[in-house]
Amino acid sequence: MKMDRTKKLEKEMLTCTFCGFCKSVCPYFEDNQWDPSVARGKVILAYGLTRGEIEPDDSVVKRIFQCTTCKDCERRCPSDIKVIEIVKAARRDLVESGFILPAHSKIIDNVERTGNPYGETDKTDFGVPIKNAEIGYFIGCTSRYRTTEIATHTISILRKLGLDFTLVEESCCGSTLHRIGHRKEDIVGLMKANVEAVKRLGIKRLLFTCAGCLHMFKEEYVKHLDYDFEAEHIVQFLSRRKLKLKPLRKKITYHDPCHIGRHMKIYDEPRTLLNSIPEAEFVEMNENRELSRCCGGGGGVRASDPGASQRIASRRVRAASEIADILVTSCPFCVSTLVFGNDLVNVDIEIKDITELIDDLLIS
Ligand code: SF4
Ligand code: SF4
Repeated sequence: MKMDRTKKLEKEMLTCTFCGFCKSVCPYFEDNQWDPSVARGKVILAYGLTRGEIEPDDSVVKRIFQCTTCKDCERRCPSDIKVIEIVKAARRDLVESGFILPAHSKIIDNVERTGNPYGETDKTDFGVPIKNAEIGYFIGCTSRYRTTEIATHTISILRKLGLDFTLVEESCCGSTLHRIGHRKEDIVGLMKANVEAVKRLGIKRLLFTCAGCLHMFKEEYVKHLDYDFEAEHIVQFLSRRKLKLKPLRKKITYHDPCHIGRHMKIYDEPRTLLNSIPEAEFVEMNENRELSRCCGGGGGVRASDPGASQRIASRRVRAASEIADILVTSCPFCVSTLVFGNDLVNVDIEIKDITELIDDLLIS
């Protein structure tokens, strides 16, 4: 088996001192207490695969895919190892050699057939005509086909603010495919289609409600394509405006999505918004900002290992329920995974995307 991409990171892997600091933060290790599931375990497995010292049997492949790409191990690692690059390279090499998890195979097939990972063919237009406009809203597959209330509330906010905006003829942004080891050429094809769709409409500012889509545009699209529009999260866009909000007599806490939190350092903007709600009490979870715990949904894990995903999310929801009435976040995939987690523990807390909360309180 060829492990060419992973082999290029051999020096990086050899930097691991096996200190085990990554164990203290990895959501997967917290869940299963298995060393091969944590960063250093995956580094050893990836290294063994590149050297041909271990075989890619089912258990090895399973461990390489047990990573939400939350980046917490990288934050904690004293040797500054690029764990996610190693995981992504090992996944890419494994998939190219035919070692793919069935759930991921289905996602790839769905995107190829329908342009979205859910395999949905019924595309609603949310009542917004596609036209030339300076502001565009990139809904993303999860809010388009699953948590549609996030798209509806975002559109409502933009309308209440009196803004001229358009939706985009969008395809899957490619984020999940990129994290589960799918081939680059197909992902670049999706990138090109999306960038062309945005450029066609003369959009200058493209807004996102999905942390994963935005992270993909900001980190990966720029490596392959030129684009001159500004891509930003709705929390960044709204935090610069003076919003007139109704009071809310509740305690609110915030879950930082890994993709816009640790990966992009967007920490202040959602807090600016939440702190601007009259009479609401904003409280921080113990693990917040760069210390935030993962929701358990990313990196293809929600599809391939839903049990682990749900248990990881349930810990976050339970922790939030001990301090607040509402757990707010700013990513449809986090919302959906946290709600899924609460199905397990059934604690008394509302789980909302920030767009839902702001739209409910926004006075037009
Ligand atoms: S924290 Fe870094 S150096 Fe230490 S075991 Fe984990 S990956 Fe290796
Ligand atoms: S990125 Fe997150 S889930 Fe993956 S190994 Fe690191 S801490 Fe664990």
